[in-house]
Amino acid sequence: MKRLDHVAIDGPAASGKTTAARLVAHRLGFVYLDTGAMYRALAYLALVSETDLDNERALVRLSKAHPIRVELDQTAGGAQRIFAGDHELTDRLSSSAVTAVVSTVAAHPLVREAMVREQRRIADDAPVVMAGRDIGTVVLPQAPHKVFLTASVDARVQRRGAEMEAAGVDVSERRLREEIDERDRLDQSRATSPLRPAADAIVIDSTHLTADEVADRIASIVNSPSSG
Ligand code: C5P
Repeated sequence: MKRLDHVAIDGPAASGKTTAARLVAHRLGFVYLDTGAMYRALAYLALVSETDLDNERALVRLSKAHPIRVELDQTAGGAQRIFAGDHELTDRLSSSAVTAVVSTVAAHPLVREAMVREQRRIADDAPVVMAGRDIGTVVLPQAPHKVFLTASVDARVQRRGAEMEAAGVDVSERRLREEIDERDRLDQSRATSPLRPAADAIVIDSTHLTADEVADRIASIVNSPSSG
């Protein structure tokens, strides 16, 4: 793998990684990749095809039959589009049904292998700001800039609630809290590539920061002479 000027942003559910990645990419002139959307795409396919979520081989067969592809807008910070085969799934990935099962799908090692291969291929092409759970630890361990973005559970519940409201979806705060807790638990406890900060990641607590302030901090880490 070429050693490009990548930025890895990991963190728990609803910590603001995707927004931060997009803003930072825009400022730095990089592309951005939200890797969670790739796992969500396979979870979506599994739901519509009624594939057993615990059957790793069936999930791998599904992803081979409908290869998950990301189209990155090459303008800095441009939006990404997700396809399975020829079908665009971009707008179908944030439903509660997908969110409820994605961590089960993402826990399978063979599922992760295929996703990581694709993520590294994308990173080989251009400097990228990549957001996920295992970017600094597994996908791009050589990335010169790594951030682990956290926020209190309360702040994350509020942010996810605002997003759902803006999307016209009515979900109770209690339900959002349970969903976030359960996803964090599954992502942190899985055997393969569990969610954790890389040893060389800089931890940013975004509880009291706006999205722009988070992006400022990350951009200044990337631009600091001691970084990388
Ligand atoms: O970031 P987002 O909430 O969309 O991620 C959805 C799920 O995908 C996570 O809860 C996690 O289970 C999985 N994921 C992962 N590794 C990544 C990105 C996401 O396991 N790099």
